[in-house]
Amino acid sequence: MSSERKQKAAHIRHLLETEGPLIGPKVSSKNRDRYAAAERFEAWDGTRDEARAIKEAAIADLPELIEQLRESVEANGGTVYVADDAADANRYVTELCEEQGAETLVKSKSMTTEELELNDALEAADVDTYETDLGEFVIQLADESPSHIVGPALHKSREEIADLLNATFEPDEPLETAEEMTRFARDYLGERIREADVGVTGANFVFAESGSMALVTNEGNARKCAVTPDTHVAVTGIEKILPSVDEFGPFVDLISKAATGQDISRYVSLFTPPTASPTLDFESDEPIDFGDPTAETDDPDGDRAFHLVLVDNGRTEMREDDQLRETLYCIRCGACSNSCANFQAVGGHGFGGETYSGGIATGWEAGVHGMESAGEFNDLCTGCSRCVDACPVKIDIPWINTVVRDRLNRDADPDTFDHLVDGLSPDEEPSGLALDKRLFGNFERLAKLGSATAPVSNWLADAGPVRAGMERFLGVDRRRDLPRFRRETLVDWFDDRGPRVSSDDADREAVLYPDAYTNYVLVDRGKAAVRALEALDVRVHVPRVRSSGRAPLSQGMISTAEDHAHHVYAGLAEHIDARRDVVVVEPSALAMFEREYERLLAPKSAERLADASYEVMEYVYGMLENGGSPDALATPPEAVAYHSHCQGRTLDLEPYTVAVLEACGATVRTSDVECCGMAGSFGYKEAYYELSMDVGEELADQFADEPVVAASGTSCQEQLDALLGGEVPHAVELIAP
Ligand code: SF4
Repeated sequence: MSSERKQKAAHIRHLLETEGPLIGPKVSSKNRDRYAAAERFEAWDGTRDEARAIKEAAIADLPELIEQLRESVEANGGTVYVADDAADANRYVTELCEEQGAETLVKSKSMTTEELELNDALEAADVDTYETDLGEFVIQLADESPSHIVGPALHKSREEIADLLNATFEPDEPLETAEEMTRFARDYLGERIREADVGVTGANFVFAESGSMALVTNEGNARKCAVTPDTHVAVTGIEKILPSVDEFGPFVDLISKAATGQDISRYVSLFTPPTASPTLDFESDEPIDFGDPTAETDDPDGDRAFHLVLVDNGRTEMREDDQLRETLYCIRCGACSNSCANFQAVGGHGFGGETYSGGIATGWEAGVHGMESAGEFNDLCTGCSRCVDACPVKIDIPWINTVVRDRLNRDADPDTFDHLVDGLSPDEEPSGLALDKRLFGNFERLAKLGSATAPVSNWLADAGPVRAGMERFLGVDRRRDLPRFRRETLVDWFDDRGPRVSSDDADREAVLYPDAYTNYVLVDRGKAAVRALEALDVRVHVPRVRSSGRAPLSQGMISTAEDHAHHVYAGLAEHIDARRDVVVVEPSALAMFEREYERLLAPKSAERLADASYEVMEYVYGMLENGGSPDALATPPEAVAYHSHCQGRTLDLEPYTVAVLEACGATVRTSDVECCGMAGSFGYKEAYYELSMDVGEELADQFADEPVVAASGTSCQEQLDALLGGEVPHAVELIAP
């Protein structure tokens, strides 16, 4: 094992044992709550489209919006400072504190100030700084970093927090319950807020037309920080600007549902600073004069000050980067973290960089801290795509991760053994690509060779010294069973056998797409798919077509994936021209056709292929809906437990499989885990094997007592084989005559 892989595996193992068990149940529960909130909110999808369109337009118009915002804030009596980078922003805030003779400062939760490391700068400037969000307060006391962008202390247990508070504050009665701790923190922090000279907040949204801002919280502390001290400093990224309050609606509808499953947060503060609230003198017995509540803005001549620090810190470059720009649409709800199986297992201290965590963190880290920070954890995104459904602004988070992986590949130093394969490997990648990536990214070539030499290739691969070498040099974990290559491929089998439905008798004609696994390894599921389609009077063709490019794409080998996409389209175009449907057994290949090819092919070609393509059970469902009889198919076992592939879930394919199995007489129970943990090559990698198995445990628990378990994806089949023992079939194998 290379020392780097060894360190990575040890770090992950540590988190699996320590923080994962604490953070996992909490984020999984938020994930379930998000599903429920989206279900309750009929306009969920349409509102996401609306929010996405607003963000796209706002980022396109960003320079103009910054200037408009500056004018609005200044007209209201505030000051705007656009900080180029973290040092610039920190200098502005610390100098401001110095000018005002500020000794104490209170803060509400802000990931942007975490990004700047503002607290360190304030400490260096001798300003006593207090985090007032409960979670941030805890991690400030513990001197740790946030483990989740919304719940910074999710990795801590109640007992740990109680110990921390008791050790720090030595209360008369030790704090034990959540209620006692919350009451203590509220009183303690309330006191700090009353005494503070400066209040720093972030901003969820800032509105250029009026200079107003929105704070969305559950604790109410942000509003207190904004309106209690004499000076309010709002520090926020430039991407948070929206044109006007008119655009706020979709976001207030979405942000809490996505983040926590709440229909709306407990506190949504919409105000135009400097606020109309008077500066409070807590020592005075005089009644508070709230002034004229109908006044449009605060009294600009009063003694309250407002500074808006707009942070660039790499965002302008992100805006100009066609691939990273989407990151700026992020509203920091954390739903992508909550929906991510790997995040659920290790939390943000594993799946995160210098500041940000979760799937979108790769984009943020690459943009604001640089590629090195993004590269620390980028491999933990397996491209399962569950976050795509979760994201309220429909950011293609897996694609951002793929792009960053591709850039990291291109920046890499050549591997020690690179000279052995560079120039010989059939990919489009430059020198420097890690050997394991080349291996996994060129799986089709390997499978072809393995099949041509089977069964010798399988015996060889099982040999101890070979496995040891593969682990050492290629990072393939020796605990994972390797694929068993079949000498007779699906295409060869079909060539010999030929179609069994004549053109005259056929209701439809279809191409069964032979993805690399179905063609070389899981040949039986391909044969079953052919038989099932033919039973429904479909004339089937199984042409020789290249693999979809999923394998290279998962390694960040975009040029190679693009090359595959062009070959696949060239191989299938004549069939599409002949009005044949394209039927796909492997959901990750279908996801390539329906999602990723948009980025790899000309728009017209991508659209034609996507429109013509169906997952095999989806296709069977369509045939049954159009007059086909389930009697033509085999009767499946009475009870079937079915796990849908993660990308199949994102494409909403699960209902078709369930409907077909039920139509054929089975009772179906489905799993509710987001991903099996295998995720293509991920579960083979030595650094991630334990994480992969850990993620799979929940699925294994759900299905442990089920007599018949089926799955739709190669990875899920392999993972369930490993977790449950025995062979887990594809669902089509249960209905094929
Ligand atoms: S990428 Fe989307 S889901 Fe993730 S934090 Fe940002 S807005 Fe939320």
